[in-house]
Amino acid sequence: MTEEYKQRRERLREALVASKLDALIISGPPSVRYLTGFTGSNAMVLVPAGGEAVLLTDPRYEIQAAQDVSCRVSVVKTPLPKAVMSVARRKRLHRLGFESGRLTFADYEALRECLWLGASLEPAAGIVEKLRMVKSAVEVEAIRRSMQTAAEAYKQAMRRVRAGMLESDLAAELDHQMRRLGAEKPAFETIVLAGERTALPHARPGPYPLIANRLLLVDAGAVQSGYASDMTRMAFLGTPGRRVRRLYKAVLEAQQAALSAVGPGILAGAVDQAARQVLRNYGLEQAFVHATGHGVGLEIHEMPRLGKREKTRLAAGMVVTVEPGAYIEGFGGIRIEDTVVVTSNGCEVLTPASRELLPL
Ligand code: ZN
Ligand code: ZN
Repeated sequence: MTEEYKQRRERLREALVASKLDALIISGPPSVRYLTGFTGSNAMVLVPAGGEAVLLTDPRYEIQAAQDVSCRVSVVKTPLPKAVMSVARRKRLHRLGFESGRLTFADYEALRECLWLGASLEPAAGIVEKLRMVKSAVEVEAIRRSMQTAAEAYKQAMRRVRAGMLESDLAAELDHQMRRLGAEKPAFETIVLAGERTALPHARPGPYPLIANRLLLVDAGAVQSGYASDMTRMAFLGTPGRRVRRLYKAVLEAQQAALSAVGPGILAGAVDQAARQVLRNYGLEQAFVHATGHGVGLEIHEMPRLGKREKTRLAAGMVVTVEPGAYIEGFGGIRIEDTVVVTSNGCEVLTPASRELLPL
């Protein structure tokens, strides 16, 4: 892995030269991890456009950093912004980029207080995030394992579903199974919604019972080796009626159309359009209230976003979700979600679970 971290920092250096920055100060933990391997929560990395990167952290992480990190480590007792600026000054770096979407205002002010004559802080958002879009083989394998764990946990948890069971109990069961199967944690708060509540795309599970002859939505993902995964499946406690079957068919067709659209060189927005067009044909366009998908990696939501008019071109190695949905207030909602990796000629679905409406 040391070699891979080195390559990542090298690609970042090229991006810094292109943005005319002398260095980038990285403060967001996922990007810190991406560039150095550091898994702790408190660190800043200074990557000069020419020269060696330095990770600064506090004494709590001294041992961990020595084990994790593939670049120079400096353990400091002073606040990190102050320490990072004194390294930059020593190295005679002047145009210093910072992650404007990640750095807190307090840390920005602390950096600014240390500026010296001729040095400047330049907002630079998304530089590392763009590099992170295309996954290496090692990263794809981590996401694949994470997805397998989540799908297996889903299968085992669903065997315990009974009418009357609470949403929050099923969510806890799923989380427990994920941990038991090797996940470090759930990738986000597991979503379990019953009956009409399935119309709330991102509600929190609560003390609501699963009801016979009603829909059940489960949206879950694991984190393994730091990498997230994401899937949504629908179940029905009984025999679904015509309206549910029609809604399910529409969303499944929309998902299939979007999956077929994914491939290298394709605009992210075109994948969203493919799903939206199918739902439009069913008169459900207004019921589809979110984007078709998002990148998945060290974070559960990362670039690229598969939304309307998104201009990012997909490339082999990108990992994204494909998750159209339709939500009808007072009736219920349906979402079907897979995590997929873009390949040289289309995509490979990483979610090993049937997409049929699961009868219970
Ligand atoms: Zn999801
Ligand atoms: Zn998702």
